[in-house]
Amino acid sequence: MKFNTKVIHGGQHHDPSTGAVMPPVYQTSTFIQTSPGKPLADYEYSRASNPTRTALENALASIENGTRGLAFSSGLAATDCVLRSFKAGDEIIAMDDLYGGTYRMFSRIYKDSGIKFHFVDMTDIEKLKSLINENTKLIWVETPTNPLMKLADIAEVAKITKAHNILFAVDNTFATPYLQKPLDLGVDIVMHSATKYLGGHSDVIAGALIVKDEALGEQLHFQQFATGGTLGPMDSFLVLRGIKTLSLRVQRHCENGEKVVEFLRNHPKIDTVYYPGLKSHPFHEIAKKQMKAFGGMVSFTFKSGKKEDSIAFLEKLKVFTLAESLGGVESLANHPALMTHASIPADKRAEVGITDDLVRLSVGIEDAEDLIADIEQALA
Ligand SMILES: *Cc1c(COP(=O)(O)O)cnc(C)c1O
Repeated sequence: MKFNTKVIHGGQHHDPSTGAVMPPVYQTSTFIQTSPGKPLADYEYSRASNPTRTALENALASIENGTRGLAFSSGLAATDCVLRSFKAGDEIIAMDDLYGGTYRMFSRIYKDSGIKFHFVDMTDIEKLKSLINENTKLIWVETPTNPLMKLADIAEVAKITKAHNILFAVDNTFATPYLQKPLDLGVDIVMHSATKYLGGHSDVIAGALIVKDEALGEQLHFQQFATGGTLGPMDSFLVLRGIKTLSLRVQRHCENGEKVVEFLRNHPKIDTVYYPGLKSHPFHEIAKKQMKAFGGMVSFTFKSGKKEDSIAFLEKLKVFTLAESLGGVESLANHPALMTHASIPADKRAEVGITDDLVRLSVGIEDAEDLIADIEQALA
């Protein structure tokens, strides 16, 4: 099955009891047993498994080319499930330009439990190699990153993790499996904030893990079941419905993203435009190698370098909505330093390049002409 068919049919079957084409929302906490310990069907209690969530999890496994998908109550719950495998003394190497909430979890929750974190620029493979020792247990990569669109070469990092027997996880939220398939490039665990492109309609908070290795899938499922961060049936239904149009949506996000980038690049008030599709982007060659197209996320700074200019721009937008989050059908705009990345200390932000005049756009699937006209009037 090819990808556009997979998003609709992958891992799916019609409801066996009624023939319903979409899986019903099995809004139930528990399931009948015919004798103690003998459930009527495969289900006992919805924290362990629920048929609507199973339908979503099978779809997730299918679109990422894995064997097992797990659906969580948020992207961070999915990340938390991975981190629970490690103990004091273990070392984890992560990208230095991470989603703010991931950085907060690593640096303020798990660091206190004795795990040592190294935050590095993964584009520097030699630097990455120099940090590896016998305590290194996990490499955590986000590519492209949020909000600076840095890339890590997934296949190159996978060579290193394989050679040293280190677990390799990739946050694939920005790219989606339409654009990038980390498991095919040697990654062990794919993580998603399904709140974003997978759900696609800004109406649900959800997360996912997908793996190829069945034993690893079983271990992660045990952790999820034992700690309880599972996704409810209604939310599972919404994400599954979102996935059906993933191909169409991401195609349009990419087309509109490129048009918006073209406009910004030629505007006299704009300084740097961060977009992996630009030839001038420092990681354009890596993007071409591992991504099918370049997505709908765009960041930029002002020639003036002034925070006031970015705030005035954001206040004047009419079609773009000023809000946290990304990846929905509607275009959103965000000020990373004041919004999504405010939990990262100012000196760390400055170090990685999240300046106070940086604006991030999640380009939606509206008509590109309307989006560009909106940006034009807000810049004026
Ligand atoms: C939003 C986001 C997360 C966190 O996901 P939630 O669903 O908000 O918990 C993690 N990584 C990336 C790249 C994100 O954009």
